[in-house]
Amino acid sequence: MEFPGFLGNERVKEALRSAFSAGRFPHAVIFQGEAGCGKRTLAELVAKALVCRVRERAPCGSCPSCIRTAAGSHPDVRVIQGSGSTKAVSVEAVRALLEDAYRMPEEADYNVYIIDFGGKTMDAPQNKLLKLIEEPPKGAVFLMISPSAEAMLPTIRSRAQIFTLRPPEEEAAALWLAENRQADPARARELAALCGGNLGRMQEELEGGGASQAQALAVQIAQTMLLPTGAHRLLAATFPLQKDRALFREVLSRLTSIFRDACVLRCGCGELVGGAPSAADKLCALPMRRLSRLPDLTQEYLQKLDRNANTTLLAASLCADLTKP
Ligand SMILES: [Zn+2]
Repeated sequence: MEFPGFLGNERVKEALRSAFSAGRFPHAVIFQGEAGCGKRTLAELVAKALVCRVRERAPCGSCPSCIRTAAGSHPDVRVIQGSGSTKAVSVEAVRALLEDAYRMPEEADYNVYIIDFGGKTMDAPQNKLLKLIEEPPKGAVFLMISPSAEAMLPTIRSRAQIFTLRPPEEEAAALWLAENRQADPARARELAALCGGNLGRMQEELEGGGASQAQALAVQIAQTMLLPTGAHRLLAATFPLQKDRALFREVLSRLTSIFRDACVLRCGCGELVGGAPSAADKLCALPMRRLSRLPDLTQEYLQKLDRNANTTLLAASLCADLTKP
């Protein structure tokens, strides 16, 4: 099993490769990691390899199976994903999957299901999926994608192999962006530094738009909360979030990455998740007690946002919580 164009994550690739070569590929896999770190890209590569007709160098990229998988028309590769701002997978989508999973593969040895849980993994669809994961039909492989396996039901988690994806080295990411997205090399290096090598986020930045605004706001909030007289500037920085729930969600998710990276930099252990290294580095000035509760805090706000809390009130209370000593 090969991973053309997929940077870094060598241990993950090695584990997948050896399971595939040994003919004991796990029936349930969870790819976890921050948004933009390549979970979906890797799941698609694995799906392609599983159905590729040239087993020795799968995915070969040129056999009929590879071509149809790339075009999204292979009968044995299905993608289940949600819609809306949270992209949560619905119970109905899992019900359709249940009906499909017991048929024999039409062409390949496997029926591959990519289940992209998006930013929010709800319990009801997972409970429906559980029966399939517990007693998988022959040849079925479920490639599940979630920001965090912790957000998934323990009953699913315990039956799946979990792989954590990290951004590649900044230098490699910058080169990739310059070569594959025709970015100016200096701009590519700048984006790699801003996003800690997170290729998904680097591409969003390069294309501009809403994603870029979210990253800029997250960095601004992270820097403003450090200022002794930052309270009203923090309120001003969070003002755009009051009217835009999707932007609020995106900013919280990026703040979580920045806060996690700050904790890693501060304690000197663990691996960076690709927040915004320079902003994270400045946050290291905070007392550890205050710093260590920040990632949980933004996660709590994400949950409140999902429960449809009022965004104006939520933005105000977030400012108060971020500046609490
Ligand atoms: Zn192929």
